[in-house]
Amino acid sequence: MRPSKRLERIPPYAFAELERKIAEKRAAGVDVISLGIGDPDRPTPALIVEAMQEAVTEPETHQYPSNRGREDFRGAVRDFYARRFDVALDPEREIIPAIGAKEAIFNLNLAFLDPGDYALAADPGYPVYTGGPWLAGAEPVLMALEPELGFVPDLGAIDEDVARRSKLMYLNYPNNPTGALAPEGFFQRVVDFARAYEILVVHDNSYSEIAFDGYRPPSFLATPGAKEVGVEVFSLSKGYNMTGWRCAVLVGNAEALDTYWRLKTNVDSGLFDAVQLAAIAALSPQADGEVASMTELYRRRRDLVCDALRKIGVDVHPPHATIYVWAPVPQGYESSTAYCEHVLEQAGVVITPGAVYGPAGEGWFRISLTTPDERLLEAVQRLGALAK
Ligand SMILES: *Cc1c(COP(=O)(O)O)cnc(C)c1O
Repeated sequence: MRPSKRLERIPPYAFAELERKIAEKRAAGVDVISLGIGDPDRPTPALIVEAMQEAVTEPETHQYPSNRGREDFRGAVRDFYARRFDVALDPEREIIPAIGAKEAIFNLNLAFLDPGDYALAADPGYPVYTGGPWLAGAEPVLMALEPELGFVPDLGAIDEDVARRSKLMYLNYPNNPTGALAPEGFFQRVVDFARAYEILVVHDNSYSEIAFDGYRPPSFLATPGAKEVGVEVFSLSKGYNMTGWRCAVLVGNAEALDTYWRLKTNVDSGLFDAVQLAAIAALSPQADGEVASMTELYRRRRDLVCDALRKIGVDVHPPHATIYVWAPVPQGYESSTAYCEHVLEQAGVVITPGAVYGPAGEGWFRISLTTPDERLLEAVQRLGALAK
């Protein structure tokens, strides 16, 4: 058996070695606490689960869904975008359900890239921004997120030829893994750049609903001209504790959505109608309180982690959004991987080396806030003891 050349180009799964070590530690009786993966620990809010329960009892949901999405689902997305982001969307042409953000991001590569094309990808960034272009036979080109610029790429530093050959640009604010918000004016510069080089911007909006300290992260589509050059993937996974449900929506440029839809009709058969009905409940104003209380939980955990890190001399900036704390590796370690291995070895705590998210992540590590409070506290105490 020989895998395709496309698949062989994908670097080995970055967490594989770490997972092996965790399994080894656990087998040896070590109480390992994982602050690695970003997967909300709290259950999906009851009003969403109840909407699902009701929906699955309706035989009309048991048949193939439409790949364009239910009319009531698209209406709920339109209402949510208007209410939350002040963005007007046409439900007929500017909204399509996706089987998670990962599906939409991956399939956009197949829909838009040919061999020889480039896709500009945030570095550090979500792995599909590079794996997707590779699997489409194209090339990802990394754009380093500059800490001094507030973790955005320096668009002016992108090579002219590279820009011309690029057909897609992946961005994500609030950002995983850095926790950064898009600085004032940045989205406008992205629109101007995309227009100049005819690039389709794919804004990954997986974290807009998890923000603290009074911040309300905007949609990329609220930027003047954004809809002419871009699409946005809005995922329900993180903000609504729905990672297992596989529910997201692709919104924005109608021509891009039509192209994505043409590809998608050849790949999958749409989002389960019952999940669409549950998503309507999630996007309704009735769920706002649930989102607010989850956000408050993450804020408390953020403060807990950042206070503890500061006490052990880590110069951490508390993030205003997302479920992650991104911090510099303490002095004296050869790499982020070496530090994270040391922490696992000595403290039984799993944290993620920044290099996993791309070369610009080297020198940093990520802590996910999706672990129950008492375990998070215990992990942080172990980190403190380790530093002494
Ligand atoms: C978690 C995550 C996703 C995946 O979202 P799904 O809707 O669960 O597929 C996409 N992008 C980023 C940046 C993420 O952190």
